[in-house]
Amino acid sequence: MNDLYTKRGAPVDLDSDSFRKLGHALIDQLADFYESLPDRPVTEAISPAAVRKLIGTGGLPLAGSDPHQLLSETTALLQQHSLHNGHPAFAGYITSSATPLGALADLLAASVNANVGKWDLSPVAAEIEAQTVRWLAELIRYPTDCGGLMVSGGNMANILALLTARNAKADWDVRTAGHHRGAPLMTVYCSRETHTWVEKAAAISGLGTQAVRWIDTDDEQRICMDALKTQLDKDRADGCRPFMLIGTAGSVSTGAVDPLAALADFAEREQLWFHVDGAYGAPAAMLDDAPADMRVLARADSVALDPHKWLYSPIEAACTLVKQRQHLLDAFAFKPPYYNFAEHADAGENYYELGLQNTRGFRALKVWLSLRHVGRQGYQQMIGQNIRLARQLYTLASAHPQLEAHSCNLSICTFRFVPEDMRGQSPYSDPTYLNTLNEALLLELQQSGEAFLSNAVVNGNYLLRACVVNFRTTAEVIASIADLVVETGLRVDGQLRS
Ligand SMILES: *Cc1c(COP(=O)(O)O)cnc(C)c1O
Repeated sequence: MNDLYTKRGAPVDLDSDSFRKLGHALIDQLADFYESLPDRPVTEAISPAAVRKLIGTGGLPLAGSDPHQLLSETTALLQQHSLHNGHPAFAGYITSSATPLGALADLLAASVNANVGKWDLSPVAAEIEAQTVRWLAELIRYPTDCGGLMVSGGNMANILALLTARNAKADWDVRTAGHHRGAPLMTVYCSRETHTWVEKAAAISGLGTQAVRWIDTDDEQRICMDALKTQLDKDRADGCRPFMLIGTAGSVSTGAVDPLAALADFAEREQLWFHVDGAYGAPAAMLDDAPADMRVLARADSVALDPHKWLYSPIEAACTLVKQRQHLLDAFAFKPPYYNFAEHADAGENYYELGLQNTRGFRALKVWLSLRHVGRQGYQQMIGQNIRLARQLYTLASAHPQLEAHSCNLSICTFRFVPEDMRGQSPYSDPTYLNTLNEALLLELQQSGEAFLSNAVVNGNYLLRACVVNFRTTAEVIASIADLVVETGLRVDGQLRS
């Protein structure tokens, strides 16, 4: 060991023996945790006050404490009082079970602590990120010579795409002049089912939320092409500058896939930047029997996807892909005088020039390792199975006398509980009551800790929503969720009627 650098005795440092002991103890507890997940409640439904009491409300400690005790207590705290989205019966939101290898990858990434903002600061990490971006593009059938980078989540991935599109499509220097007085209103088109990121993007980009044109959807929550055309023609006549069209590949509410091929044609004709929000659904493009609209992602100018959703990466991991890498540089690269890094002949990527972050973590590692661990085949198998499980639930709900199936797109199934005397055109059927009933049912189900679903509101109907983005869910679990919904529904219905 080099004497020059040892034994500083800094309070945060750990000698290698302590680190080994701490790490081994932690890994043992985590292995037990993974094993015990199915036997734990999905959630304790604990109150904020109770959690605060658990962690204590004291001020910042003056002196330190023993790390062994700290780590083991904190591990127990998190394992006992968290909502476990890795539980087989968690199908609440598009939040996946996380790969155990990804957890180790995060530990490894943090230990090396690469700063993937600049190539020189992260030689291996930057190349692994570049390869991850190429592999993600390949996975969804997008051109692999695109530009792209890892970001924190779907919101960021989509927001980055909008900022890039705005810069590429403004016919003045919008980076310098901004949306100055007298600038035309640049408008963006998306369906009413589009995720709320678009409002944040419009607000922070200077476009203003007034620029978002929410287009009506059809009975299957897909954007209406006629309504889109009408709105765009009107905007042009009013002097607006339409610049961006957004299609969603798997909507957050019901998993609906917009008519992406028709949207791509429309964007081409109208010279709009075509962006696809595939935060949830994009990985389904890799399936041999992918819906036809999922096969046209290569026609998009940009795509957002979230490995922390359907590639089961631990949170946070998302990715923005932009067909022409130069557009990212045009939007985000600046050359401050204090960044004087060596230029390589075969330059590696300096990721701070492609996005908003400067110092950047090594998010790609967990994605890259899982892609290598199971390969394309492994992912096809898991995603295909999730889709089959959602269909299984849909089929069960269709056949059951007290359930009503509503939709099944990708791996999201919506349905609701309907008491037998309120089915179909029954004179007893009361939409308001059914909404109240299903809302109460869902709350009770969630609090039971036995399974976790969420809701969607479609055409005024409060529906139960199961998102199967979980490699631990099985056909038995799906069957038990259906039974549990019926049991809970009967009980809640009885309570509400009495
Ligand atoms: C989840 C989701 C988002 C937001 O992604 P985050 O990772 O939660 O920021 C955006 N769009 C769609 C379609 C999503 O499903």
